[in-house]
Parts: sequence; C-alpha cells; structure tokens
Amino acid sequence: MRKKQFLIIGLGRFGTSVCKELYKHGHDVVAVDEDEEKVEDADGFTNRAIIADTTHEKTLRSLEPDSYDAVIVAIGDHIQESILTTLLLKELGVQKVWVKARNEQHHRVLEKIGADRIIHPELDMGIRIAHSLDSDKVIDYVEISVDHSIVELIATKKIAGKTLAKLNVRKRYKCNILGIKSGKSLTITPMPDDVLNIGDIIIVLGENRDLKKLEADLL
Ligand code: ADP
Repeated sequence: MRKKQFLIIGLGRFGTSVCKELYKHGHDVVAVDEDEEKVEDADGFTNRAIIADTTHEKTLRSLEPDSYDAVIVAIGDHIQESILTTLLLKELGVQKVWVKARNEQHHRVLEKIGADRIIHPELDMGIRIAHSLDSDKVIDYVEISVDHSIVELIATKKIAGKTLAKLNVRKRYKCNILGIKSGKSLTITPMPDDVLNIGDIIIVLGENRDLKKLEADLL
C-alpha cells in the first residue's frame, strides 16, 4: 500500500480518531489545531502537529495543503471556521477536501463551496446502529445512495448448505453478493459453487427494498 500524506485540521474527538487510525496504518499524518494543548497531546499519533488558525489565508497557504493526498476539516462545532477553512482550501486548489458537518445548514454551505465529501459522524453512526438493532440478521449497514446500501447479513439455517448458484440472489433479488466472511476468512470473489454455513456473514449490495425482501425470505 502506498504511504499517503494527510493533513487533519482540528484535533477534537473526530479529528483525533481519524489521525490515530491513519497513523496506525503507517501514513504521514500532519495535524493542525489552534489550541496549543491539543497539539502537544497529538505527539504520539501524528508525524507533526502544528499550532495554527486555518482561517488565516496566509497561515493556511504556508501549510501547503495542496501537497497532501487529502485534507480533512474536523472543526465541526466551530461552523464559521469550518466553512472559511474549507473555502480557502478549495481556493488554494486542494483536490480532496473532506469535511465534518455539524448540521443540515452547515452541510448545504459546504456542498455549495465545493467540499468533496461531507461527513456526519454521529448521524451516520446512528443510522448504522439503528439498522443493526432493527434486525438481528443485519450486522452492519452502509448507505451508498438514497436507495442503495451495502449490508452485512448473517446466514441462518434457512440457507445453510446451499450454494450461491442455488440462492441466485442476483436474478431473484437484483442484489450482488460482494463477499462472504466465514470465521476469520474473507472471500471477496465469491463463486457460484461456494456453500454458505450458519453464521457466515454475507456482504450484499442492492436497492434497499430488494435487500429487505432478501433478508425476509432467505435469512
Ligand atoms: P469534535 O466534536 O470532533 O470533538 P470539535 O468541533 O469540538 O470536534 O473540535 C474541533 C477542534 O478544532 C478543536 O480542537 C478546536 O481547537 C479546533 N479549531 C477550531 N477552529 C480552528 C481554527 N480556525 N484553526 C485550527 N483549529 C481550529
């Protein structure tokens, strides 16, 4: 895997968590926060942490944000600062700016000024958790579009011992099985003659209503 360079602006809970994970994966992580204490604390999980206010154009420019693979703006609670920082980053030509949004209005402004991806950590996690609670067969859920999702479903005895060809989910439900987790192994190119066992986790992509039907009929 190519080592990538990331600039994370804002060392709140979200920014810190992103930094730690990227650093753990061996990427170059540079963090920025205007709070000196936060910057000092980031020593163990960043390659460099800098005290700066990213709403100052000159300061932001000096960080050379366009030299990174992506810049993550994690200043959710300070909406004005988040918007101004995002605007400046886009004006400076940064290709990939991912921003944490606080609420719907914040989201709409970020969209208008060209944020490349807008993240609602609490909302997204809430939806995922609700889907898992809603059905004891859904292990995880990721929304792809308004109508499409990827779900992880647990195989019950209804389908145990059957091959993927026999289940024929593509034809019957217009869904695609992307992978099968069996214990610790993960098959990402499932074959028609692969057999499912109780407890296997099937990763399926499809339209939400088709996924619901598949879940009700097969599991
Ligand atoms: P979370 O909800 O993920 O904990 P917060 O919004 O509370 O995130 O934290 C955002 C962080 O961003 C804070 O540490 C704050 O000091 C920092 N921050 C806010 N405005 C700026 C700015 N203009 N420049 C740099 N850092 C900023």
